[in-house]
Amino acid sequence: MFNRSRRNLAYWFALSMGSILILFASVVYYRQVQDQLLAFDQRLYAKSKAIAVGVRYWDHRSRWRLNLEDELLLGTNKLPFDSDIVYLRWYNSQGQILLFFGATVPKQLQGKLGFQTVKTDSNQTLLRQLTIPVVQNNLLIGYFQIATPLTPVKEDLARTRLFLSLGVPITLGLIGFTGWFLGGLAMQPIRRSYEQLQRFTADASHELRAPLAATLSNAQVGLLAPVGAEKEQRQRLENIVEITKSMSVLINNLLFLARNEGRLAPEVLKTVDLVSLIQPLIAEYTTQAATQSLSFISKLPQQPVILSADPELLQQAIKNLLNNAFKYTLSGGTVQLQVFTQSRRATLQVIDNGIGIPADDLPHIFERFYRVDTVRARSSGGFGLGLAIAQQIVAAHDGQITATSKIGVGSTFQIQLPLKG
Ligand code: ATP
Ligand code: MG
Repeated sequence: MFNRSRRNLAYWFALSMGSILILFASVVYYRQVQDQLLAFDQRLYAKSKAIAVGVRYWDHRSRWRLNLEDELLLGTNKLPFDSDIVYLRWYNSQGQILLFFGATVPKQLQGKLGFQTVKTDSNQTLLRQLTIPVVQNNLLIGYFQIATPLTPVKEDLARTRLFLSLGVPITLGLIGFTGWFLGGLAMQPIRRSYEQLQRFTADASHELRAPLAATLSNAQVGLLAPVGAEKEQRQRLENIVEITKSMSVLINNLLFLARNEGRLAPEVLKTVDLVSLIQPLIAEYTTQAATQSLSFISKLPQQPVILSADPELLQQAIKNLLNNAFKYTLSGGTVQLQVFTQSRRATLQVIDNGIGIPADDLPHIFERFYRVDTVRARSSGGFGLGLAIAQQIVAAHDGQITATSKIGVGSTFQIQLPLKG
């Protein structure tokens, strides 16, 4: 599935980029043809002007004649100006040939005025021909025609075509390769979240299967109990109630994780004082500490610690840390909750001197359904979701949660959140 998506991504990327490239190359080539021809025409025009101006025209028996003696060697077929010029022709105002140099000439003026691309009769070479009217004293006295081969332009364009015909396929290949590479990069996070989702679904089904099986067996055994064994039946029903309660907690946690994914919307964020938010928790956990023979110490700052947060979610995250500290600390131990501010951040720490977490497990404890395989964790009945939920809440508040722990010594969980303003 991923490879197909990657191939599709690479294909569409190459196709779209390739089309853009080909379009771009065509526009560049077209522009070059235009520019080269324009420059060529400008040179040709300058050349023709230089020749036309250099020649004196004079009236001979009411007919315009050319005085070319200063400029050209009459009677030769050699062109004295420029080896580029294929022919020069002077016509009178009726379009009859007066004089020419170079290739043999039609008696009558042919072609239209201005620039024109023509072919030579002999070897079919492309020529650029310019025909201009010669005007003296506001009177049309004849026409002047000049032609040069288009070979330099053709050669230049052939070079460009060669460059494009090699460059475009190579670039297309590179685009295809880049598309494949980028497709791979784009697939990585999708593949990761897909695997995570698969693992999560498998874990959730596994966690739900065990209590369901227990409920079923309790109900079946209760039904099989002989008439009059109400005590046993009652016991079975109580078991079912307990199991169902724990399933309900699990389902609530799963729903919570699913619903609160990602950053929080700005409208749910409120300005809260972390100290007043924690106060009710301190009262609650002090009572619980007494029942568990633990000492619970809290150190809160005198001044308020103002954050932008969802108060209920933040309380839930702190509760999850406190629950763990109380769960994984043996009687007689101490749990400490402290809050302080440091360089525009609020820091909350839950420190216990409980059983601690093995170094190998520490990097995984924030993963969903991860539990350290200890007798205490197994007997605690937790699902391994408390820390995942706390981490998700803290991340949604743009904060960080970290843990340090030493087995047999205790653990410290720390939440850091940005202060408001
Ligand atoms: P749940 O919170 O879903 O009821 P849980 O407490 O087992 O179950 P987490 O809170 O996610 O799950 O904790 C993951 C694991 O990390 C726990 O199973 C426990 O092994 C370990 N752990 C967490 N906090 C502590 C702590 N303060 N001391 C020792 N181990 C801890
Ligand atoms: Mg927990």
